[in-house]
Amino acid sequence: MTSASRWTVAPDGGRPDGRSCVHLGAMSTPSDPLSENCEECSALGFGWMRLRWCTTCGHVGCCDSSQGRHAYSHHVATGHPLVLSLAPDEHWAWCYVDELFLISAPTTRGSAV
Ligand SMILES: [Zn+2]
Ligand SMILES: [Zn+2]
Ligand SMILES: [Zn+2]
Repeated sequence: MTSASRWTVAPDGGRPDGRSCVHLGAMSTPSDPLSENCEECSALGFGWMRLRWCTTCGHVGCCDSSQGRHAYSHHVATGHPLVLSLAPDEHWAWCYVDELFLISAPTTRGSAV
């Protein structure tokens, strides 16, 4: 099942207007997360707060509020720019390169931005 959701930069009052993410066009979701948990944390016996899912390769790592920050270290190691949040109450992606939140624009609304 493929969902063709459009992604857009999330409005954020704390950031200058007009910034955009050059990776938006390449935004896609891998078929499945490679793991259910942060495997690096599991190996180290760490706990984690929330999980981030690399949209490039499907790697699952813990967020920057977690002890291991493995999603970030995955970005540093691989250069993969975008992670999706796997937290059920969070519906956004983060671009490490442009340092922007991205949200998926519902296509049903038909809002042209
Ligand atoms: Zn970007
Ligand atoms: Zn971790
Ligand atoms: Zn990756």
